[in-house]
Amino acid sequence: MAAALEPSIDAAGARVSLRRLSRPELIAFVREIGESPFRAHQLFRWIHLLGATHFSGMTDLSKGLRVKLETTATLEPLAVDVVQQSLDGTRKLRLLTRDGHAIESVLIPDGEKLTQCISSQVGCALDCTFCATATMGFGRNLDAGEIVDQVYRARTILPSGRRITNLVFMGMGEPLHNFVEVERSLAILMDDTGANFSCRKITVSTAGLVPGIEKLGRLPMGPNLAISLNASDDVTRDMLMPINKKWPIRALLDAVRAYPLDRRRRVTFEYVLLDGITDRDEDASRLAKLLRGLKCKVNIIPWNPHPLAPYRRPPAERIDRFQNLLRDAGLPVYLRRPRGDDIDAACGQLASRGAEALVPLRASRRTRP
Ligand code: SF4
Repeated sequence: MAAALEPSIDAAGARVSLRRLSRPELIAFVREIGESPFRAHQLFRWIHLLGATHFSGMTDLSKGLRVKLETTATLEPLAVDVVQQSLDGTRKLRLLTRDGHAIESVLIPDGEKLTQCISSQVGCALDCTFCATATMGFGRNLDAGEIVDQVYRARTILPSGRRITNLVFMGMGEPLHNFVEVERSLAILMDDTGANFSCRKITVSTAGLVPGIEKLGRLPMGPNLAISLNASDDVTRDMLMPINKKWPIRALLDAVRAYPLDRRRRVTFEYVLLDGITDRDEDASRLAKLLRGLKCKVNIIPWNPHPLAPYRRPPAERIDRFQNLLRDAGLPVYLRRPRGDDIDAACGQLASRGAEALVPLRASRRTRP
């Protein structure tokens, strides 16, 4: 995966955040400080396999090198600020960046499978009207170190022997708005000397940035693709997801059709059910028609209510009916039962609660990345 190599010690002489460097970049960094490339492999292992937060614990590095690293580099871990535990086993983490921003990550167990939902931005610029994160506005992009560190900090709260098996870029932010750092984080997470996730176990979810989907499809080891669709016609989608005015459903589906996936993989369409808005019979039949012939599956997500949006979750019988209509039309459809109902389940809810005491984002609400 080819994130461009960056000079590792910046022009102002500031210490370099090593966690955000891919392995080739780390090799370039150790060369710059006069060390053998072998040291980069040791460092990469410490940071991305063992989750190290300090150079002082890297016992197979010489004391001299550790001192040199203290003056030229930093590891800057996220701070685990709040962990909420739901009765259904879902755990939600609020993590703080070094500059005081709150972001969220969620651990969702399902038998042996443990999926982590990770954030790519502080807040989001896309203004989807059903989303709690959107109400925060856009703060800034996360760098690759902050993206991958969500995984390493989450590991620290797991019982011994429990492993994160799948990753979804479906937390706060639009990953394809932060393409460079998301690409770099994918390279780091898939590196077989670090966290070693297979591309089949990582999914990037987008609200529909067509050029970003095309770029993602050109990566040599592209992740799974999920589309947050949420409507079956442009009028409704324009209202729920303003990005649709720029790339309407037809353009979005053309980009999805062109996304390269091997035989065993399918594109996922996420579809949030909002009472009376996206859950009607005509929505189901339009959706089935739109997706006909696509190698895909549909995840139906009954809306997670939060006080910042005027929608309702449909009644259970309506959810069942919608699911059956899609199934009868031949679509593989899965109902994502609401998880973490007893905690701040909606994405962005925990980060925004109390976050005014950290770094307020409201002032930058209209800033685009
Ligand atoms: S749903 Fe996703 S893309 Fe839309 S505002 Fe929320 S975080 Fe951003």
